[in-house]
Amino acid sequence: MEDKGFFIKIVNNEKGKGIFSKRGYKEGDIILEEKPVVSCQFSWNSDYGYLACDHCMRPLETAEENAQRLTGNPNIALPNSECCETNKNLMTECPSCGTKYCSRECQDEAFQRYHSTLCLQSRVKDESHPLTQLNETWKQIHYPPETATIMLLARIVAMVNQANDKQDICSMFSQFCHRTVNDMHPIEHNFSRGKFVEHIDILREMMKKALNIEYTAHWFTPDGFKSLLALVGMNSQGIGTSPFSRWVKNVSALDMHKDQRIFIDKLIDRIYDEMEEVVGSFLDNEGSGLYILQSAVNHSCMPNASVEFPYSNNTLVLRAIRDIQPEEEICTSYLEECELERSRYSRQKALSSLYLFVCHCDKCQSQANDPDMTSDEEEVEDECS
Ligand SMILES: [Zn+2]
Ligand SMILES: [Zn+2]
Ligand SMILES: [Zn+2]
Repeated sequence: MEDKGFFIKIVNNEKGKGIFSKRGYKEGDIILEEKPVVSCQFSWNSDYGYLACDHCMRPLETAEENAQRLTGNPNIALPNSECCETNKNLMTECPSCGTKYCSRECQDEAFQRYHSTLCLQSRVKDESHPLTQLNETWKQIHYPPETATIMLLARIVAMVNQANDKQDICSMFSQFCHRTVNDMHPIEHNFSRGKFVEHIDILREMMKKALNIEYTAHWFTPDGFKSLLALVGMNSQGIGTSPFSRWVKNVSALDMHKDQRIFIDKLIDRIYDEMEEVVGSFLDNEGSGLYILQSAVNHSCMPNASVEFPYSNNTLVLRAIRDIQPEEEICTSYLEECELERSRYSRQKALSSLYLFVCHCDKCQSQANDPDMTSDEEEVEDECS
């Protein structure tokens, strides 16, 4: 095994595990690269026609098709098609249900790990299929902006059912930090806004009907189901892919004549403006996944690393955003950038309700004597604009 530049150790009881630098990193260095143990596109995102590989979330549209769909303007033409990364020649689909994949490798891996259990066996949507009903019920209680999908849980159960060593895969999932929470807040926040408690038993019953739960019965007691939701709610990482933004990145890196550069920049601005009018902030194929190493990275309000998806699929890259010294803990921010600017009290309120911990990072400690006041903007709206 190659020598990694980091190690994992227990920090304390409250934080559990943490990731530490062994010999240090320079700003921009890749600390680790990782594929998820499971990931899934969000339900509404998929229904609205955001086309992604059902296994790895790689876009299935060209950049031009993506721009046309998101602006509702079929006349948009993008120059420099070599900057589009989508390769339609490699795409395949499940012969039984038509689920689409970016490649034969993804199709085979999905089938072997969970899709043979979850395949609907029909290209025509069967409204009465228990899995279809589960997804529809889910969508009715979880409108966009999405932060989770019940289909990720279905995929986890299917993975256990299809695994040769069921005990091994169950203990792999139990490695993720999970607490049997009495406080429902992280589950509520990530899995619904509003009356989730009323729906939680309905979802549990529907999953029991839709899937064989012989090997995962411990997740389908009332408390077991809550702890499964908490495991996913507290550990899942959002994933976003976009063929148009990849094209923008690639075309921006080209050497070109000044006039042509002005033309391209204007085109890009105009397309983003049109998209904004039609779909607002919903630009990406969106989903979430569970990552073993990344889930051990703790939060800091002054992070030294960040999560990226540079390959336009679900492969995660953890990158140093400043120089990191040997032995220093590697931290990302669980909060949005704009949330990090808020008062210590506001940040800690968000972290303790979403992730059930009190932040003791350097920034929080240096502000320990600040008054317990929420930032003004937080009173106005809960989410960053
Ligand atoms: Zn794929
Ligand atoms: Zn299928
Ligand atoms: Zn902090």
